[in-house]
Amino acid sequence: MKLLLVEDNPADVEFLAASLRRQRASDVEMVNVQSLGSATERLGSEKFDIVLLDLHLPDASGLECIDAIQAIDNEIPIVVLSGQDDEEFAVSILNKGAQDYLVKWEGQGRTILRSVRYAIERKRSELRLNYMAQFDALTGIPNRQYFNDQLTRATARARRDGRKVTLLFLDLDEFKVVNDTLGHDAGDRLLKEVASRIQRSVRTGDVVARLGGDEFAVLLEGLTGPLEVETMASSLLALISQPYHIADRQLDITTSIGITMYPNDSADTQMLLKNADIAMYQAKENGRNNVTFFTERMHAELMEYHELERDIREALRLEEFHVVYQPKVNAHNRRLQGLEALLRWTSPTRGKVSPGTFIPVAEESGHIIPLGYWVLNQVCQTLKTWEEKGLPRVPVSVNVSARQFQQPDFHKRVAQILAAHDIDPALIEIELTEGLVMEDSEAAQMELLRLKRIGLRISIDDFGTGYSCLSYLRRFPIDVLKIDRSFVLEIGVSQDGESIIDAIISLARSLRLETVAEGVETNEQLDFLLERGCHIVQGYLFGVPMEQALIEPLLAELNNAGVDSTATRLALAAVNRR
Ligand code: C2E
Ligand code: CA
Ligand code: CA
Repeated sequence: MKLLLVEDNPADVEFLAASLRRQRASDVEMVNVQSLGSATERLGSEKFDIVLLDLHLPDASGLECIDAIQAIDNEIPIVVLSGQDDEEFAVSILNKGAQDYLVKWEGQGRTILRSVRYAIERKRSELRLNYMAQFDALTGIPNRQYFNDQLTRATARARRDGRKVTLLFLDLDEFKVVNDTLGHDAGDRLLKEVASRIQRSVRTGDVVARLGGDEFAVLLEGLTGPLEVETMASSLLALISQPYHIADRQLDITTSIGITMYPNDSADTQMLLKNADIAMYQAKENGRNNVTFFTERMHAELMEYHELERDIREALRLEEFHVVYQPKVNAHNRRLQGLEALLRWTSPTRGKVSPGTFIPVAEESGHIIPLGYWVLNQVCQTLKTWEEKGLPRVPVSVNVSARQFQQPDFHKRVAQILAAHDIDPALIEIELTEGLVMEDSEAAQMELLRLKRIGLRISIDDFGTGYSCLSYLRRFPIDVLKIDRSFVLEIGVSQDGESIIDAIISLARSLRLETVAEGVETNEQLDFLLERGCHIVQGYLFGVPMEQALIEPLLAELNNAGVDSTATRLALAAVNRR
């Protein structure tokens, strides 16, 4: 497969090449050109299978780049490399006729390779399809054929990204009565109005189609869980049941909605439609005007979500949470450099619940906001206790979720909490994930500046797995990049994992940022990181997350300058707690 990479940023080129090499994709031949001009020249004289296209080139930018490529070769599949993961932007690219888009610096070589392969396939099937046959003449929205096509694409994307696709199947209740009593004209107008209401209630990029008669379907991508789906479906029910004014009469109609999700319920797209249809019939049997999920398992999942959500709320009230601290160590002198605060929950009924289980539910339900402030409060209290005990000051980093960061008064609340405990802001570092900063870059940038002005440090967590690009790093006032554990795991295993770490370290160096490697478990990993210039490490090799009381002796030894014994202590703690 011959791939034309149109990208002028050498670091991005190297990152992509390394990611592809990492997949040992020996059949991929990559040619890199740095401008749109040279791209069109190459395409005019040589046959390529696919174009990977950056939209910020020295001689052109934006959607016109896609136009220019298509003007030269209307049949070549295009994958756009984007610096941002913006739904609307993605939709505009796909509407332009690009087959897919990839967010830059996505850590997964497999993702890139799959995207490339799917794009080629997709372009082929697109060329076969007749676009005119894809819309419903009455309502103007997509028809069944278009819907099926989109469903296939969406499930392919979901397979790649590990995300979910949700399918809503709607059938109006007793539409036949309207048709029979008021005539077909009224029926048609009702269908049109229903179509436009559904369309208005979904997000850009979601697909609404009329499957035939009074059946509609909605395809949703990227919803995080059944709670969100349920909310969406309930608001659809409410919207459709609002009165209609047709032929000088007020009409009331309800609908029944069946829901199924990929990959929970089925991996086969045709089965998905069938399942949603079955669920819709179930909804009708349950008394119409309601929503039914396809499987018992989905029901069960939804119930479990509700229970977990309720338990989290209670746990906050009853103070069942506590904070543990994991050391960050300067590997050169083995001295404690800082701590990361990590949340723990011991529930009287559930036992120890891992953050991997409860954090996503806390995020979806919004409990993460009070919970996040609670953690910051605890950390400040602990820091104060340590100060009163005469222990040395160490900076502590605190994880902050998107939901919390996006609160309009986030920086104010943080400042208030610090002031209330009389804590030096320089002691607190905020860990944010990449996606979070990118999502709403204008507002995020402002908020980060405010946090910096207060005096906090900013760290980008899980760096390399999300969607960063160089320009955003330059624009944001960031202090630290945390190299994600998945890359550290590949040290000594994969050449390309290693080159990604290299890329991150040199990127950080050029921007004068600190790097911290997380999940360091072996001496081999440590040696590699030290050799490449990453000195600050965090991981089981130096210590697991520990209770406040276990951290105190480590701090005390910092005072005694017993460098070696600190190291011994840390190593011991790690062994003991494993
Ligand atoms: P994270 O911020 O990436 O935190 C690092 C995770 O890696 C922690 O898992 C830590 O225990 C684990 N870890 C550290 N060293 C090693 C190692 O050498 N090997 C391995 N295999 N794992 C290691 P934990 O505590 O389960 O937290 C998971 C995630 O939950 C965190 O990932 C963070 O995203 C989230 N989280 C934890 N506490 C909070 C919090 O207070 N607020 C928010 N918003 N999120 C939190
Ligand atoms: Ca973290
Ligand atoms: Ca992390």
